[in-house]
Parts: sequence; structure tokens; C-alpha cells
Amino acid sequence: MTSTKPPVLWLNVAIFTVTFLIAIIATPLHAYFVGFDAAQWLMLLFAFSFCGMSITAGYHRLWSHKTYEANAVVRFIFAIGGAFALQNSILHWSSDHRIHHRYVDNNDKDPYSAKMGFFYSHIGWMLREYQASRYSDYSNCRDLQKDKIVMWQHKYYVPLAIVTNFGIPFAFGLIHGDVWGALLLVGVVRLVLSHHTTFFINSLAHVWGSQPYTEKNSARDNGLLALLTFGEGYHNFHHIFENDYRNGIRWWQFDPTKWLIKSLSWLGATKNLRTSPEDRIEKAKARMLHKRVQETLMGSVESKATELKLARLDEEYELLLKKIADYYGAKKRLIELKKKKLLKSYENFEFLQQYNEMKRMLEEQRKSWQQLTAQYV
Ligand SMILES: [Zn+2]
Ligand SMILES: [Zn+2]
Repeated sequence: MTSTKPPVLWLNVAIFTVTFLIAIIATPLHAYFVGFDAAQWLMLLFAFSFCGMSITAGYHRLWSHKTYEANAVVRFIFAIGGAFALQNSILHWSSDHRIHHRYVDNNDKDPYSAKMGFFYSHIGWMLREYQASRYSDYSNCRDLQKDKIVMWQHKYYVPLAIVTNFGIPFAFGLIHGDVWGALLLVGVVRLVLSHHTTFFINSLAHVWGSQPYTEKNSARDNGLLALLTFGEGYHNFHHIFENDYRNGIRWWQFDPTKWLIKSLSWLGATKNLRTSPEDRIEKAKARMLHKRVQETLMGSVESKATELKLARLDEEYELLLKKIADYYGAKKRLIELKKKKLLKSYENFEFLQQYNEMKRMLEEQRKSWQQLTAQYV
């Protein structure tokens, strides 16, 4: 019987299997017989964060989505960290990722389609030659091909990956005094953790969590996953507002990648941070909630009461949309007036009062919308 499956990529299979086995077998043995100290655990945390953030802030939000701009020093550091993370070159990763967004959940086109199952989207897609043609076609990343650092990293990806993966743990081990311990913890354990936490975004973040912004694709918001992935767990938001440099948009949402990008902007190392219009975000959320409550009501017994509830729901939803449009329209004008420094005259004082009134009305409408939807679900 002949198999129609594409050939196995033995190098990938070997890397994933061997590193995983070493991490789970040799590391506990070393911990038992030799032990690890605080400096080694701290170095593991540092190296894991360096890899993780090079992928999230660099590969993902900078290069794949162009949500901000970064100077050459920052780009260089992310390029090195990306090779250390062993997730292929920036060019290749970004090309895959742009296809993932464009054709999300399409089993024929999305390279790590969640509809192919958990294992496939997590790691299976890298174990066989599923997309041989893609290794020469980077036409969806012409912009990145103009970035000298991207092209340099692409050309020297293999030596860079080898030098970082062996060199960094080895150098630390020499300085610290336990080379084998460093190779295990900072080399292998760091790599395995870094791989699988990133892979969770393609697998877990497409099956486990909530969908507050859209149901058009399988992406989910998951705060727990955000903890492990430097903020990338807010994947439902990300799939609808992919040009936003943030994934967790609320101040309390754990998104260290966003904090890093923002902090670097204060130092002048990053600029032109893009965010999505607030009204679009709020409308997306309201639309989703409206749809959900509507479906719940329609699923209940057909009666006059249900009909009335549905009508009331639509009415409150329309009011909410109107108040969102009013308030954010006024806010936009206010910002324009402030820019032109026109806000001192009497006329504009009146406008400011109107603006505050719209703000108050929107807040009230939000409250009654929340109450009504909570009551109906
Ligand atoms: Zn993305
Ligand atoms: Zn995704």
C-alpha cells in the first residue's frame, strides 16, 4: 500500500523528539545528582524571554504584521533571538504567518490550520513536507525582502541558529561553572519550552478560550495562555485587529510584548505604534454579544414574550451603536480641535460640554446594554 502523505522531514522530527526527551529525562537526573542553582534558573528565564519576545515582538508583531517600526539595533537583537528560538528565519516565519491570517482555518491553504486538529496545528504541520513549494516563494513578503537584517538572517539562519543554541548556553556554563547544566537548562529546556509555548498559539489558542470579538474564525482569547506566551493569548482580538501592536488591549491584560514595544518607543527605538480605532473594537464586541443573545433567545420557546425580548434587544443594540458613533465622532473632533489649539473660544466650550454629555450617554447605554444582555442570557 502506498502512502499519499508527503515525505517526513526527519531533521525536524529528530530536533523535536531529541530535545523533548533530553528535557524530560536528562534534566531531572542532573537536578538530582548535581543540582541547579538560582543563577541557572534565572538564566533560563532570561533566555526563554529573549527567545519568546524575539518571536512575539519581532517575528510576529513587527515583521509579520508591521504594527510598528523598530530601529536597526532592535531588529538585529530580535533577529538573533529568533534564530536562538529555532523557528526558521524571519522571512519564512512571516510568510507562513501572513498566509495563516489570510486563509485562517482553510485546510488547503492555512499552513497550520486548526481545523486539521490539535496535533497538526501544534507540531504536525512541521513534521512532513506539506508545503515544499513554499520554501522558495516569499512573494507575500516583498516588503521584508527590503530589510537588510531580515535577508542577512535568512541567508545565515543555520549558522546563527547553531551558534546561538550552543554558544549562549556554553558561554554561560563556562562563566557559571557547570557547562552540562547550562547546556541542559538554558540550551535544551529553554528550547523545548520556547517551542511548545509558541506552538500553543497555533493549537490551543484556536480551540480553548472565548470569542468576544468574532466567530468568523477559530481564534480564541485566553488569559492563561497569555501568561505563557508574552501576551499572545488574546488571539481572538488579534485575528480581527491584526494591525494593532497590542494583543491584550486592556491595561490589566498580561501582554509584556506590548509593554516592551511601548517602552522602547519612549527610548526612541520603536515608533509609529499602530492601534485599532476604539469604536471599531467596541462595535465588534457589541455585535458579537448581540448575535449571541439573539441566538439564545431564538433557541427558546417561540412566544409573544420572546418576540418582545428580541425587539427590545435590537432596539438597545441600535441605540448602543448610535451612541458609540456619536461619542467617538465627537472625540475625533475634539482631538482635531486640540491639535489646532482652537479650544479656547466660547463655541468650543459649548462643544466640550456636548462631548461630555455624549460620553455620559454612552456610559449609560453601555450599562443598560450590559444589564439587558445579562438578563436575557
Ligand atoms: Zn498574527
Ligand atoms: Zn492564529
